[in-house]
Amino acid sequence: MTTRRTFFAWAAGALAACARAVRREPSEPPATSASPSTSDSPSPSTSPSDSTSPSTSDSTSTSTPTPTPTPTSTSTSTSTSTSTSPSTDAPDAGEVPAPELSPPEPPSDLFAGAPAADDPLEHLYSRRLSFEEGQPLVTVRVAEGRREMVVSARGPLTVRARAADGTAPEATLDGAEGPWTVRLVSGRPGVGATWVELEELRFSDKAGLDRARAEWASRGVPTRATTVGQVYGIAGHVVDTRRHALLADGDSTEAGARAQAERIAARFPAVHPQLFRELAARPSGRIELLDASGAVRATGESALELRAPAGLSVAQVEFGMGYSFHGFETRAYPGRLYATVDPRGLLALVAAVPMERLVKGVVPSEIFATAHVEALKAQAVTARGEVLAKVGARHLGDPYLLCAEQHCQVYKGTGAETRATDAAVDSTRGEALFARVSGEPFDEGPGEVSRLVDSVYSAVCGGYTEDNESVWGGPADPSLRGRPDFDPRAPGMSTFASGVGAALVSRFVRLPSVPSYCALVAPPAKVRWRRRFRQDEVDALCSGLGVGKVRSLSVEGRGVSGRARALRVTGSAGMARVGSELAIRRLFRNLESGMFVVERAGSDWLFVGGGWGHGSGMCQMGAMGRALRGFGYLDILGWYYSGAGPEKIY
Ligand SMILES: [Zn+2]
Ligand SMILES: [Zn+2]
Repeated sequence: MTTRRTFFAWAAGALAACARAVRREPSEPPATSASPSTSDSPSPSTSPSDSTSPSTSDSTSTSTPTPTPTPTSTSTSTSTSTSTSPSTDAPDAGEVPAPELSPPEPPSDLFAGAPAADDPLEHLYSRRLSFEEGQPLVTVRVAEGRREMVVSARGPLTVRARAADGTAPEATLDGAEGPWTVRLVSGRPGVGATWVELEELRFSDKAGLDRARAEWASRGVPTRATTVGQVYGIAGHVVDTRRHALLADGDSTEAGARAQAERIAARFPAVHPQLFRELAARPSGRIELLDASGAVRATGESALELRAPAGLSVAQVEFGMGYSFHGFETRAYPGRLYATVDPRGLLALVAAVPMERLVKGVVPSEIFATAHVEALKAQAVTARGEVLAKVGARHLGDPYLLCAEQHCQVYKGTGAETRATDAAVDSTRGEALFARVSGEPFDEGPGEVSRLVDSVYSAVCGGYTEDNESVWGGPADPSLRGRPDFDPRAPGMSTFASGVGAALVSRFVRLPSVPSYCALVAPPAKVRWRRRFRQDEVDALCSGLGVGKVRSLSVEGRGVSGRARALRVTGSAGMARVGSELAIRRLFRNLESGMFVVERAGSDWLFVGGGWGHGSGMCQMGAMGRALRGFGYLDILGWYYSGAGPEKIY
């Protein structure tokens, strides 16, 4: 495997230019893509309200940040790769029992000593991207918590069975095409602490973190915060994956955390809690590969690597855990799968997917494949950036970088690929969205750095996009400014060209026709909408606020697009303030958006609104409309992400 190099090794030359910049953590990083909601896609299978749930994570805390990457994969030390430090950077880590740190490893510990460079486990547990055949290789969860699974190979199957010393000699099996069974013979759980992660917040959003902690405290869930992710450089550009992870206090055991996650999910249906692990020692175990006749053809210590040139498919892959669309299906993956042991000591399957192939699988879940190619290209660039923004900041205690669910990026395997989206991915190969930021965040004197843009998007902006801070709070991101999604020369629209705000929102949501780019393609009911609630419904929906019978609903503060930042609910027994765009939408049965006015209609309450989704960043239907009007993807991205543009990073 001499062609295998870490992504960072490959980038080392280019890094020279920005090494100084990344050595010091910026004082004002850009908002990262782990905002409370990063995507609000018009995916046919999920409503926007699903994708606006606060993103949560089950990654372990970051190991000591290493902003300057080590140049070779062989230098990955055991301390970095076999354990993650127990969130020593958590501001209040002392509030919870310290995780068990001294691993009771027997002398036969598989992970003692320096691992071999080609040890499959290094691919599974490294928080770095390896770089193969001209692009990063991303590990993605296929399944875990299993005892055995059936894998079918297309073409001859090559297996590398890991030996106790970490070597993994290659053997080509002469068996016919699938099915093969991978089976866990024995498994030992990892050692460490497990917590429930409630949500993630932007690293710059300290106020939001405090607010979230106070909110959870008021619900009777004490929390602590920790930091995940790091700042790193790629080809002269800077990627900042740092976030605050908000963890529920618990007893730190796996069983305790699982039970707690279930209780929280049952109490708060909109929250999708994730497990957050701090591993001091990896799980281990023995895995067998059986052919169709049941004969054992290979046995691996903690890992088996399976390769088939034309791909592999896996039966009974579970998806949508915790969602209404939960199910099992057969999924296909490109060339390489790993069978390994998950933190509970059970069987896990992990796909190693070249970045471009991963993006090809992701884009069709994010936008309609029938969209104009320039809109698809814009979506491909944002999808690639989203993957980059999450790598190494999530699932640090798991044997993969990303899960395949809403939490990271929905990845259904190669079966999701379409010819149109593939072409869009191919024509933007290696491109992600970056913006030039002046040098002061790095305190390194004059100059500029190119930083990965938090490429959030939503389905339909309704005619005007919103500033990020009006949707999620936190500092303003220069790339996420609210902007008109219409031609100001359109009749009657010049009034709104420099903003809607509180003054004009009532007129804006009542426009008889909306000449916005999104309105060219969006269902009219998502461009302008009305929702009517009876008084008793409003009382019931607001009962949790303890205000009694609701007498008034008034918006407090609006963003540039007119979206509500907060709602004051006054009732017979008191007053409550509902504090964010998302919270307001959820309170009223997933309102289409925060761009609305609310009024009495007889004894009912009437919401008159526009748009579908949070409205910040790219308007997906607007991108489709602009493409139809002749805009290229550079113009589309440059408009919705003010001043940003794609940069080729490989
Ligand atoms: Zn995930
Ligand atoms: Zn729009």
